Amino acid sequence: MTARLRLQPEALGMGMTSQRVRDRLIERLRDGAHPGGGIGDERVLNAIRTVPRHLFVDEALATRAYEDTALPIGHGQTISQPWVVARMTEALLANGMPRKVLEVGTGSGYQATILAALGIEVHTVERIGELLRVARKRFRSLGLNVRSKHDDGRIGWPENGPFDGIVVTAAGPALVDALTAQLADSGTLVAPVGAPGAQRLLVLHKQADGRVVQQDLAAVAFVPLLSGYVD
Ligand code: SAH
Repeated sequence: MTARLRLQPEALGMGMTSQRVRDRLIERLRDGAHPGGGIGDERVLNAIRTVPRHLFVDEALATRAYEDTALPIGHGQTISQPWVVARMTEALLANGMPRKVLEVGTGSGYQATILAALGIEVHTVERIGELLRVARKRFRSLGLNVRSKHDDGRIGWPENGPFDGIVVTAAGPALVDALTAQLADSGTLVAPVGAPGAQRLLVLHKQADGRVVQQDLAAVAFVPLLSGYVD
C-alpha cells in the first residue's frame, strides 16, 4: 500500500508533523471518543497514518494538520475532519474493497489520496478550478494517478462509470439520482445529506439483487454541494 505513495523524507516531517503526533491521531480515531464511534478498519487507519495530511493544508496550518478537526483550504471550503474521512472510507470498504471510486468534491485532494493509498482507482470531480489545480499538483508530487475533472460533480462522471463506490464530500438537500444511477451493482455510496446544522451521513448499498439498503451513520457538518462550476 505505501509503495503507491512517493514520500520524500522531508514530507515525513519533524516536530508537530512527526510520526508520534500522527500516531496520536490514529489512536484517537480508533478509541471511539467521537460520538459517531471508533474506526475499526486497520486498512483505513493505516492509510491515514501513511498520508501526510500537513501537505494538504496551507503551511501556516501544518502544525494543526494531525488534530481531528476540519481546516480551511481557501474559497470558503474545508479539508474534512480525519474522523469523517476515516468513517466514509470505512463505509466504502465495508462490502469489500472497491476497485473504482468516484469522489464528488476534490477540495484539497486528501480524501482522494487516502483512497489511492488503498490501491483504489480514483476519479474525482471539483467545481472550483483553483482548488483542483492545487490538488492536481499534490497528486503529481506524491506520484499518484488520480483522474480528475473540473465540473459540477452532481452529474457524476457517466463516461467513466459505473463505480464500485461513490463518495460525496459536500452536503446536498437529498441524495442525487444521477450519482446513484452511476453506482455498480453491489456498490456503495456515502454522502452527507440535509440542511446546514441537520446533516446526516448516509450510506446506500446497492445489493447484488438490485435492492437498495440505506443506513444513517452519524450527524456531520459539511460545506454545501453547489451547482455549476467556477474558475
Ligand atoms: N474531499 C475534500 C473535501 C473538500 S470540501 C478533501 O479531502 O479536502 C468539499 C468540496 O466540494 C469543496 O472543494 C467544494 O468546492 C466541492 N463541491 C461543492 N459542490 C460541488 C459540486 N457540485 N461538484 C464538485 N465539487 C463540489
